[in-house]
Amino acid sequence: MPELPDVELYIGLLREKLVGRTLTGIKLFNPFVLRSVSPKPLDLVGLAVVGLRRIGKRVVIEFPEERFLVIHLMIAGRFRWVEGGSEDVRLGGKISMAAMTFENGALFLTEAGTKKRASIAVVQGESALSEHDPGGIDVLNCSLEQFGKALLAESQTVKKRLTDPHVFSGIGNAYSDEILHAARISPVRRSNSLTPEEIKRLHSAMGCVLRDWVDRLQRQFAGKFPGAGDITAFRPEFAVHGKFGRPCPVCGRPVQRICYADNESNYCAQCQNDGRILADRALSRLLKDDWPRSFD
Ligand SMILES: [Zn+2]
Repeated sequence: MPELPDVELYIGLLREKLVGRTLTGIKLFNPFVLRSVSPKPLDLVGLAVVGLRRIGKRVVIEFPEERFLVIHLMIAGRFRWVEGGSEDVRLGGKISMAAMTFENGALFLTEAGTKKRASIAVVQGESALSEHDPGGIDVLNCSLEQFGKALLAESQTVKKRLTDPHVFSGIGNAYSDEILHAARISPVRRSNSLTPEEIKRLHSAMGCVLRDWVDRLQRQFAGKFPGAGDITAFRPEFAVHGKFGRPCPVCGRPVQRICYADNESNYCAQCQNDGRILADRALSRLLKDDWPRSFD
């Protein structure tokens, strides 16, 4: 969390706000947020933004001569935009980790909660930038063949495989639940036991679910910057994720859950597991390392 559709939403809005605009200041309120040594953040001041990119779940603000500001929101990191070129960097509030001011407004990186995991890195050069890429394949543009190969390469639960940033780029706990439900595949199926027909269904479900949500969020926030609470893993229109006990929109049976550590994953037993409910606690013990633990 945030996952691909959320990050795409931010990127689209930031592209509108920032491209062609000059960075006039940058201030870090928590020194640990910075994960790079050189170049310094202040080296970017005075430069105009030339583009925005997404690397997995990271937002990359691109400056001239291959200089990049790489921001990883992790779980609780969010952006806040204050229009109007204000110099008052306190506007971001107590949870501000960093403020970047531009001619036309101020961009804050905020992070609620006590675990501070969001990060900023300043990077020089494309090859240094590529070190921030966990290497998962581009899920919006991968072919069926690429997808199947990545899925089958190891025997893991399909849930773990889909959410591994080294395998697939940008999918986390929420959207993997939605994708598996749309594909009618159980989250605990072994990735290398999937039939060609199931792989095809999963590939198509992944594209449909993610594209649909990218479009939906862009329509919902057309031109207006989302508040912290708008970037959430719990959307009312989700089919199963965060819907434990609620009726499955396809078959009407109650949505089930699997709890692991502080994660909860949701599925429909009827649609995804031939009507069989997966035993929760026993399953969690059994899965141990075979369940997503981090939400990179
Ligand atoms: Zn169902």
